[in-house]
Amino acid sequence: MKKRVESKKEPDQKKIAAHVKAIIAELGEDPEREGLRKTPERVAKSLSFLTRGYRQDLKKVVNGAYFTSGTNHMVVLRDIELYSMCEHHMLPFCGKCAIGYISKGKVLGVSKLARIVDMFARRLQIQERMTEEIANAVMAESGAEGVGVVIRAKHLCMMMRGVEKQNSEMTTSAVLGSFREDAKVREEFMALIK
Ligand code: ZN
Repeated sequence: MKKRVESKKEPDQKKIAAHVKAIIAELGEDPEREGLRKTPERVAKSLSFLTRGYRQDLKKVVNGAYFTSGTNHMVVLRDIELYSMCEHHMLPFCGKCAIGYISKGKVLGVSKLARIVDMFARRLQIQERMTEEIANAVMAESGAEGVGVVIRAKHLCMMMRGVEKQNSEMTTSAVLGSFREDAKVREEFMALIK
């Protein structure tokens, strides 16, 4: 598989806006009419924001926000909202993420888990890969003995077009370390996020 290029460079918003303007015209609209005149710049700005995860750095996102803890119980954070864009249609998908891990003495700040989710959601994504990327990042940054991530999301590309299934929700999971090897740990996690 070809590796994705992760550009740290800010996108050229003028360039994006010019393309958006061409798309609007090709769709049969008048890009000069009042309601649309500033749309290309707005779309460029919003696309830059929605893909800013490419330009974030995991170390900087976590920024050393660790606490030491003597226990090694499971920590679970659930209902982390996420908004992403599918890479096949560039339409939004949104849902909730649950993260669990068992630390080896190093606990990550709660807000940092949410920031890690955003870092990988704000890209062109597929839900399966995003789930794995979040799990790998939490594992790497927390040095945990195990990590589990479950994402439930609704995809607008399924709801608005194609099969037009309004209520289908996709669930993906990624488990690492003890969450993968030990069925009991996995069951505890699944019970906690129900
Ligand atoms: Zn899609």
